[in-house]
Amino acid sequence: MLNGVPVPPERAVAAKSVAAVLAPGARVALTTHVNADGDGVGSEVALWHLLAARGHRPAIANPTPIPERFGFLVPNGADHSDRAAKEIEAADVVVVLDISDIGRLGDLQRAIKQSHSVVCMDHHVSQGSLPDGPRLVAPEAAATAELVFDFASAVGWPLSRDAARALYVGLLTDTGAFRFANTSPRALRVAGALLERGVDPESIYESVYASAPEGRVRLMTEVLQTLVVEPEAGLAWVTVPPDALHRHGATADDLDGIVEYPRSIAGVRLALLFRQIANGRIKVSFRSMGDVDVADLAHRFGGGGHKRAAGASLEGSIADVQRQVLGAAREYLASRAGS
Ligand code: AMP
Ligand code: MN
Ligand code: MN
Repeated sequence: MLNGVPVPPERAVAAKSVAAVLAPGARVALTTHVNADGDGVGSEVALWHLLAARGHRPAIANPTPIPERFGFLVPNGADHSDRAAKEIEAADVVVVLDISDIGRLGDLQRAIKQSHSVVCMDHHVSQGSLPDGPRLVAPEAAATAELVFDFASAVGWPLSRDAARALYVGLLTDTGAFRFANTSPRALRVAGALLERGVDPESIYESVYASAPEGRVRLMTEVLQTLVVEPEAGLAWVTVPPDALHRHGATADDLDGIVEYPRSIAGVRLALLFRQIANGRIKVSFRSMGDVDVADLAHRFGGGGHKRAAGASLEGSIADVQRQVLGAAREYLASRAGS
């Protein structure tokens, strides 16, 4: 209990099995899901610091670039995502953070399938399809950052202020700034322990939420214009116009949080965001309130996630995908009406 927060015994056992493969001298690559979020980046940056302090030279190797919003966390020379597949191939150990599903590792899937040692730290419900290896996986954790914190605690590796700051970003962003259902007493205790290590919450707020490019806000106004609400169903959705990201010089990260607006409407139990992604697919973000389980709903479309936040990517035009997903959503909501 190094940080004043006890580590559940099963997590401590798992942490030790992970530490055992991170032997001195091993070449370690760290990665996370496509379109990395604050938890993916925060967790890998924290682990990068933990490993660097032990004399490793770890490399972050993500399938897509780290969003600018989180650039302030990334140490110089740590991010090798521009040659990620090569880093993965050259690594003795690959640590996959914040995802258990190989399908969400984009172009790195092939390299990761061929790796001999794949560690995973994750809090998703969906049991993944990664190659065998030590796992520190707990769906009840608020964020993967909580598990990286537990890892450091359990194996007694000191957590520097820079590592603590990265973990704080993971907890902050995955709990919607400590508002969502995963804001457990334990998540707040871990956040408290991180602040005790010298993390400055206001400067993090500024970097993560208050340093937006103008295009992010203009994009948001345009997406919110598309809002449709079906009050009787408890359903609301928005659609990103096909060329909107490009016109506003924005990236997928700039859409983060927009789906909270349809979800914030009184009586809405299920909110959706539709957008076109590469290779002609449509990405759907699912958010829910109360007892609506969107992991279950997203799973029907080949996706996954958590009970109140999930996603899927489907083939077809926006109109086709909306027809399918909205149909399933209405049926799902009707079947759970009043339950
Ligand atoms: P997003 O809507 O992209 O913010 O994602 C919300 C949650 O759903 C996150 O926990 C993601 O890991 C998960 N998720 C998003 N997209 C997918 C997908 N295509 N397949 C499986 N899970 C996803
Ligand atoms: Mn994530
Ligand atoms: Mn996460």
